[in-house]
Amino acid sequence: MNRRSFLAAAGVAAAASESKAATDNPVRSRPLRAGYWGSEYYDQQELDQVTEVVQSRSPFRWYGPKEPTKVATFERRFAERIGVKYALAVTSGTAALQCAVNGLAIGPGDEVILPAWTWHSCYAAIVLAGALPVFAEIDESFNIDPSDIEHRITPNTKAIMAVSLQGNPADLDKVIPIARKHNLKVIEDFAQSVGASYKGKPLGSHGDIGICSLQLNKTITAGEGGAVVSNDPELFERAARFHDVGMLRPIHIQAAGGKERLAPFVGTNFRMNEFSGGVLIAQLGKLDRIIGNVRANAARVYEGVRDLPGIRLRKLPDPSGELGTGVFIDFGTRERRDRFMAGMKAENVPAAPPGGSAILPVQPYIEKKVTVHPSWPTFTSERGKTIQYGAASCPRTLDILGRFAGVLMDPKFDKRDTDDIVAAIRKVYSRT
Ligand SMILES: *Cc1c(COP(=O)(O)O)cnc(C)c1O
Repeated sequence: MNRRSFLAAAGVAAAASESKAATDNPVRSRPLRAGYWGSEYYDQQELDQVTEVVQSRSPFRWYGPKEPTKVATFERRFAERIGVKYALAVTSGTAALQCAVNGLAIGPGDEVILPAWTWHSCYAAIVLAGALPVFAEIDESFNIDPSDIEHRITPNTKAIMAVSLQGNPADLDKVIPIARKHNLKVIEDFAQSVGASYKGKPLGSHGDIGICSLQLNKTITAGEGGAVVSNDPELFERAARFHDVGMLRPIHIQAAGGKERLAPFVGTNFRMNEFSGGVLIAQLGKLDRIIGNVRANAARVYEGVRDLPGIRLRKLPDPSGELGTGVFIDFGTRERRDRFMAGMKAENVPAAPPGGSAILPVQPYIEKKVTVHPSWPTFTSERGKTIQYGAASCPRTLDILGRFAGVLMDPKFDKRDTDDIVAAIRKVYSRT
């Protein structure tokens, strides 16, 4: 055993004995874990919706033996809830991102700025359109750092992806003016923050086009699903056509004011089915209850830890608009953060690093610019050939993600659960 692995092993042993000592009287006897919010609220309403679709024998959104209504109804109600004119339901958040990027007619030669910490699909949607992803650092909100955007803009930049991660709105009042100044579009990705708002307006209604996911891990869910939202009829039409092999169907012609603005073009099939639409109608009706419960739980935890000496919490550009998905603390160093997590685990109140996303520039397939075809247009341009991803391209993002840990919230936590979270944080924080 060399010196380095000996020290590493000794460190692990020390941490293990520390957590063993702490388990003598843990705050909880069994681990407390947040679950999957939307599906925790599944009940007779979702069953009735699915049953209606089965009985109608009309699972396809455009036609069938009976007139299908589920997906169209979900779209209308979702647009209303988000406060936009148009909503398009699709098969996933990833599909929604592709609709948004294609809706903006972004393609080869174009560049899109996105945060270094977000989900794979943001990068994929840009590359699959043939455009070039340009990463910006995140800040202590875990979202794109508005001060790291402007110097990355080139004459080829077409859009900025403002992603609101883990329930926390991106600082849109800083991002949108930068976009306007340089004549760029804003794609709002609120996949992890459905129901959250920024300065009184729901996420998804701030940018030029917004997307969300309705997959199991998100606020409300049909297992898979996504939506595109916009106030711009032309963006909506291009997104809708892209999602349905270039066609615009009567429901969407009607939604877009009774006329077609564009000619057909090559598209794909991201159409949502009626089962998903029905489940999402039921889930949407529960959205405000779900997020109200999460927010109330997070508020109790914030209140319970705010006075801890020297505590630094995750940056919230609009505390009243965030969902409270997790209460995250900045420990300043990775070592101290990891000690905190080991201590919390021993208390059976596990804490986690920021989650639900990936540090994209360090993914090997991204660092090596791997695509299905060697002459993919993204990386054949001069800038595409020279741009460097990898850890050296996002040092601040890596540093921030290494310093934070938090406890994830659940809408079904009760007062006892949140009391235990506060008790565990207070106990472990004081000796971290
Ligand atoms: C989940 C997610 C997506 C993709 O959604 P899917 O429904 O999983 O395809 C896109 N962006 C972000 C930020 C996400 O968290």
